Amino acid sequence: MTKQTTPFAEATDAQLEGIRGVCFDIDDTFSTEGQIREEAFSAMWALRRAGFSLVPVTGRPAGWCDHFARFWPVDAVVGENGAFVFYMADGARRRLDTPSGMDPAEAAVRLGELADAIRARFPHAKWASDQAYREFDLAIDITEDVPRWPDADVDELLAMCADAGAHAKLSSVHVNTWFGDVDKIRGFENWLGSAAGSAHAQDLDSWIYLGDSPNDEPMFGRFTNCIGVANVEPFLRRMKTPPRWMTAREAGAGFADAARRLVSLREQSRDSG
Ligand SMILES: [Mg+2]
Repeated sequence: MTKQTTPFAEATDAQLEGIRGVCFDIDDTFSTEGQIREEAFSAMWALRRAGFSLVPVTGRPAGWCDHFARFWPVDAVVGENGAFVFYMADGARRRLDTPSGMDPAEAAVRLGELADAIRARFPHAKWASDQAYREFDLAIDITEDVPRWPDADVDELLAMCADAGAHAKLSSVHVNTWFGDVDKIRGFENWLGSAAGSAHAQDLDSWIYLGDSPNDEPMFGRFTNCIGVANVEPFLRRMKTPPRWMTAREAGAGFADAARRLVSLREQSRDSG
């Protein structure tokens, strides 16, 4: 471990008062046991009202991200582990695909071959229920609608994808695998540096990231300010770049606690300014 994860309660006001944007993973960071609860959804609206830029960053598919970008109080959504960003502008849903360095048609062919190899090695493997709404990646369900896969099989699946030259990331519910060099941080930075992102704080130190899983590690490694919700704890052993802080409560409750602190700091600084 290259840095020590400390309780979020130990973060100082000075460390947090410059934050203007909140980036957050969805599954088991914002959602709790497969649902977005009232506490977390209200916390997202409170952040919005307080003036924070908001960008969910998820492994979930294009079909879901179309909904998030249209219906949620957010500025943009990074989807399929960074393959694209969806956002609204002038009343229309726009997209920005992240340069992956690979022709999409070639990537699709290689992903099909990898899918066949995965089915041959793990005949019981099931694609995630949201696979039909994906554009770029293959999601293998390891616990969402199927009995939890043993850790050793998950590790072997991840290694098998990597050996085939694919990227593979473990979320709290799926193993996602894809060809082409994208990840959550590349997707986010591609948007932030684009015309669509230009209205938002450009300095990553003005943002904070919240996540819970190994697929959040590219973000934990890049953001100075990053929080794992309490359920990140069992994954810390897998991480080279763990989050700086950890909330006391899990998932959406941890998200809400962190949001409450950020909103209250913002209100204090407005009152005193
Ligand atoms: Mg997650």
